[in-house]
Amino acid sequence: MASKDNGKHQVVVIGSGFGGLFGTKALKRSDVDVTMVAKTTHHLFQPLLYQVATGILSQGEIAPPTREVLAGQKNAQVLLGTVTDVNLETRTVTHHVLGRETTTSYDTLIVAAGASQSYFGNDHFAEFAPGMKSIDDALELRGRIFGAFEMAENAAKRGEPTDHLLTFVVVGAGPTGVEMAGQIAELARKTLRKDFRSIDTRNARIILVDAAPQVLPPFGAKLGAKAKAELEKIGVEVQLGAMVTSMDERGLELKDKDGSVRRIDSVAKVWAAGVQANPLSKTLSEQSGAPLDRAGRISVNPDLTLPGHPEVFVLGDMISLDNLPGVAQVAIQGAKYAAKEIDNRLKNKAPQQPFKYFDKGSMAIIAKFRAVASVGKLKLNGTIAWLMWLAVHLVYLTGFKNRVGALLSWAITFIGNDRSERTVTEQQIFARLALEKLEGGSQDLVTAPGEFDAAQEAQRAELEEKAAEEARLTDQGQRGVHVDA
Ligand SMILES: Cc1cc2nc3c(=O)[nH]c(=O)nc-3n(C[C@H](O)[C@H](O)[C@H](O)COP(=O)(O)OP(=O)(O)OC[C@H]3O[C@@H](n4cnc5c(N)ncnc54)[C@H](O)[C@@H]3O)c2cc1C
Repeated sequence: MASKDNGKHQVVVIGSGFGGLFGTKALKRSDVDVTMVAKTTHHLFQPLLYQVATGILSQGEIAPPTREVLAGQKNAQVLLGTVTDVNLETRTVTHHVLGRETTTSYDTLIVAAGASQSYFGNDHFAEFAPGMKSIDDALELRGRIFGAFEMAENAAKRGEPTDHLLTFVVVGAGPTGVEMAGQIAELARKTLRKDFRSIDTRNARIILVDAAPQVLPPFGAKLGAKAKAELEKIGVEVQLGAMVTSMDERGLELKDKDGSVRRIDSVAKVWAAGVQANPLSKTLSEQSGAPLDRAGRISVNPDLTLPGHPEVFVLGDMISLDNLPGVAQVAIQGAKYAAKEIDNRLKNKAPQQPFKYFDKGSMAIIAKFRAVASVGKLKLNGTIAWLMWLAVHLVYLTGFKNRVGALLSWAITFIGNDRSERTVTEQQIFARLALEKLEGGSQDLVTAPGEFDAAQEAQRAELEEKAAEEARLTDQGQRGVHVDA
């Protein structure tokens, strides 16, 4: 196998999520150099994003710096950058940060760039209902949710209507939507109950809508019905068979099964429906011929390699293989499998059996001490499921500090109904929209590569010219001489 630079086999990993980070860590003892390129400086524990959005956890508790996590792994380097191209022929990856381009060569490539929110062709909804995929999303939602209560308090003080401000709509009744709706309900009914004077937060409406006929479809009809009943018990209105047809700043329109269209006035909306694989799957598909499915996921071989490219592994949310679900365990187990395969090849060992996903089950928290869990044939709900949820999330949170931090924050919320992370700023809510107005985004706010020296040179020439003129005036005794107009 080819090798570069120091003679070591070069592995490039795209992404620092579950696939990318666990893949890099699994190569710790292999005789390779690993370069992990990711567009954020952190590893994100997405399953707890909704807790950042609703003020339970801080962003740091679910997003440790990748550099710190890998500090002890000498064969791993972390590079910040958004990968914009993969060239399967030259075996290079091109990545950018603030307009600066870097190209990195690989012998083996692991692509684990995840998925983004899908608005099913209505991308303009994103402005009115942020999804839940990143720290930015969660902080923006936190700002919008807590901000809506603030706006309602002011409106009530002025004697104006508050219904649109105290109506929260969550679109998508999968685990994220259920968790989000449950937490907004607990915020309104418990946490914020005593904090306002002109409004009663307990009157807030929390509406969970989905075009599907049941809540939590992957958990089965029985658990879905239980989750719906639990949600209704804590004051969430569940509206099923309702499809979002349009959206604006002040509300949304829904089409019900019978064809009737209705409007809900709601300022704070959350989008928790649908995902779309990272566009890098399209880049790989165009060069390898591997087909994409409707969600943009790429077909891979049973050993997780790209067809015709045994040197490229694709993992997690980007792949279409045997109907594997888009869950963390698929990415983690795939990452360990790919790392083992790379190590085997370097040691001239036989290839492994095809990748086999071991389903460890799914769970969703609904409210304090209430959750649903589906583990094999075991279907659980209530406190037992909630305790299982707690244990599993503690085990999989990366980093000891984060586990201790999260445990303390959970104690504050689950024992005392309080939330430690209620800070919101105007920037959290509006900075992304402001950045989107710039043609090149944040790149427009810094000097372009190569232009810095030219700008310095021009500035220096201007200063020298001014100094020469000052010297001339002094030499010719013209300083202070009044010149008639
Ligand atoms: C809100 C939410 C809740 C969830 N809850 C659960 C749950 O309870 N249980 C469960 O099992 N799963 C859950 N999931 C799904 C789970 O998080 C994903 O299946 C898992 O993260 C997939 O891992 P991945 O490595 O494929 O992608 P990710 O973990 O998403 O990682 C992708 C990485 O690629 C980086 N990246 C993206 N594009 C580029 C680029 N162009 N260049 C460089 N880097 C790039 C990203 O910054 C990120 O580091 C949830 C997901 C969400 C969004």
